[in-house]
Amino acid sequence: MVRTMAATVTKLLTGDFYKTLLDSIFDAVYMVDVHGTILYWNESCSRISGYTAKEMRGLNFGDTPFAGIEDKSTISVREKTHGISIVLETGMPGTWKGYVCRKNGQRIPVESHISAIRNDKGQITGAIEVFRDISAHVSLEDSHRQLLQMSRKDQLTGLCNRSAVSELLKAEIERSRRYKQLLSVIMVDIDHFKRVNDNYGHDVGDKVLARIGSVLSHNLRQPDAVGRWGGEEFLVIVPNNGAEAAAHLAERIRKFIKINPIEEVPGPITASFGVAQLRPEQGPDQLLYQADMALYKAKSDGRDRVVIASGDLETPIQ
Ligand code: GH3
Ligand code: MG
Ligand code: MG
Repeated sequence: MVRTMAATVTKLLTGDFYKTLLDSIFDAVYMVDVHGTILYWNESCSRISGYTAKEMRGLNFGDTPFAGIEDKSTISVREKTHGISIVLETGMPGTWKGYVCRKNGQRIPVESHISAIRNDKGQITGAIEVFRDISAHVSLEDSHRQLLQMSRKDQLTGLCNRSAVSELLKAEIERSRRYKQLLSVIMVDIDHFKRVNDNYGHDVGDKVLARIGSVLSHNLRQPDAVGRWGGEEFLVIVPNNGAEAAAHLAERIRKFIKINPIEEVPGPITASFGVAQLRPEQGPDQLLYQADMALYKAKSDGRDRVVIASGDLETPIQ
């Protein structure tokens, strides 16, 4: 039966019309029999892979150095199983993204579509794969991703920037409403930071900011998030916790900052913390307003402390 299939394909492809047609297609097209043996390999296959039809015909696709390993991030089927064997086994057409290895050793990303070939009785007699080199697309996606990441990051501290952390806060507020969970925020502001700049220079100031950013991110638990809110202010989002638990976390961070001095600055660096818990019907602005008011109180009470928003007095919400 395999031989019949091979004979049919050869007959079909010896016709000038079909050969010209398939060899003119920009996409790579090849065909295998039910065992995965390559019967046909078009011109674009040769162009992309570097292997000629003469070199590939008669080989089992899975055994050729050309067969790549699938990109595990985009595929959920068995590891190291080429799409061709899955289609031959199941008869189901599929789309794959993965890598193939060119004759010169270069690994290139490809996207492929594979369909089963069946005889009159519906039995699978082989498969046809159409694939294309997506290197240009992938590098474009990479730079897109990098740009997107850069636009969400604060360059000095490596934390989320204000717009990214605002987005996160909105999403967390939605989530806490949907699942009826608590949510708190902590607004952090370094004390007398202007003096650090004035006394030791802007570079030392930058170092302090980077250091505090790192202390914050290393002291959080998994669902918590932190971003640089602006200047020497940071916003910590604490999902699933009320103000008291968030204040405990803030207190731990406050102590950590105070007892870990920075080489260039004699004496401790301290920070003040305003903690607020999301109340019913509040949006991000009102929640942040509460946290800001608590922070203001922490400053006016003498700095280097954690204050929880006390309620109606500190918020304009009825
Ligand atoms: P307070 O305890 O009341 O918060 O006083 P403060 O000095 O920390 O606050 P103030 O708002 O008076 O000064 C903040 C300073 O932070 C002023 C600004 O120059 C400095 N700053 C803002 N962004 C940066 C930055 O990216 N790098 C450095 N080195 N300094 C910055
Ligand atoms: Mg400030
Ligand atoms: Mg400050």
